[in-house]
Amino acid sequence: MAGQPHAATERSLRTSRLMEGITQALSVQHNNVVYDMKSAGQDIITLSLGEAFFDLPLPSFDGLTTPGLHHYSHSRGLPELRRLLAKYYGSGFALPVDPDTEVIVTAGSKAAIYMALMAIVDPGDQVIVPEPYWLSYPAQIRMCQGEPVMVPHDVPVFDFERFVTARTRAVIINNPNNPSGHVYTRAELEYLHELADRHGLLLIVDEAYNEFIPPGAEFISAGSLDPEKRHTVTVNSMSKNYGVSGWRIGYLIANERLTEQILKINQHLVTCAPTILAAYLAERFDDLLDVTRPQIQRTVQLRNRVAGWFADEGIDTMPGTSTFYLFVHLGGSGLDSTEFAGRLLRESAISVVPGIGYGDSCDRYVRVSVGSESEERIARAVAAIRDLIESTTPEHLTSRPRSRVESGV
Ligand code: PMP
Repeated sequence: MAGQPHAATERSLRTSRLMEGITQALSVQHNNVVYDMKSAGQDIITLSLGEAFFDLPLPSFDGLTTPGLHHYSHSRGLPELRRLLAKYYGSGFALPVDPDTEVIVTAGSKAAIYMALMAIVDPGDQVIVPEPYWLSYPAQIRMCQGEPVMVPHDVPVFDFERFVTARTRAVIINNPNNPSGHVYTRAELEYLHELADRHGLLLIVDEAYNEFIPPGAEFISAGSLDPEKRHTVTVNSMSKNYGVSGWRIGYLIANERLTEQILKINQHLVTCAPTILAAYLAERFDDLLDVTRPQIQRTVQLRNRVAGWFADEGIDTMPGTSTFYLFVHLGGSGLDSTEFAGRLLRESAISVVPGIGYGDSCDRYVRVSVGSESEERIARAVAAIRDLIESTTPEHLTSRPRSRVESGV
């Protein structure tokens, strides 16, 4: 009986209450619309992607010496890659790492964060998530039957203790932050460590953008303040720093007691990260960073120039200097972030991500990524954002800002 709901089928296809409570990742959903528009031949200035496009050599697997390239590898990750990651953190970021017991290579850092949460969250446990958050954190916490406790973006780190309850199990931060570009200060990280210590919490620190630091700024890996890993889980990824998001290689660094549990999840879920890609990364580890680092620096500089363009237009961005994202304030616009992003896409063929995806306190913002478009097209987008803010700001609130971008960049 085509088209008729069938009681047995209804039962067969019913989904879990847990998953019914989870929504799609807003940024991914938004970008799917953009992909569709592009495949229909539309030219979209795409400022919504969560990645920077680098000029990279096409990988050749010829000459790789790692054995068993076509096969599963150790589910902790290829030993050589683990050794290099341990050295990267040990000598680069003052976080000593035992490659045999304290690292797991995962199929992307998204999976690493989820597995870390799964290993520590019992049903009803709370995890503190400062806004603007990376939007998979709350969904992943819920998928572990935990409860995300959001902290509005205007609450200083030093006030996070107000959000701790008897059920709090962890705090998760993204340093540097997607979408604001904020790099946590030493004082902020020290405070978070004290908080974790005082209340027996875990501090999960997602450092996926740690190479995207402008000259003169200081990036401190939170784990360096807790070298024994008493309460810190460090998560990182090759996606952004190596510009290979599609390869799905990430990793985490944690106390052996935790990695033992996380390893079980990894074994039951994916066995191991893609062996041939992990081998390629291990054998070309430094060469690839030599290729991406100058491009990362150019991207960060572009990000900070674009922040200046917005400032010249009288448009605020959330304070930050790192990554390739800007969290742009909508000023006096009467539109919320979803309406704003929708109109910008429909009327100007420019895609940005609505700020609401990064927390309820962020609906006055949109996320602009400068990682995949030319400077000239980004300048056009800045002008269009300014125009849309102005044309949707009630009369009595408008104050004509100076024009910087109009003059051409
Ligand atoms: N953390 C943050 C803050 C991110 O922005 C992303 C990707 N956009 C990830 C983690 C996931 O990266 P991956 O799974 O590709 O390692």
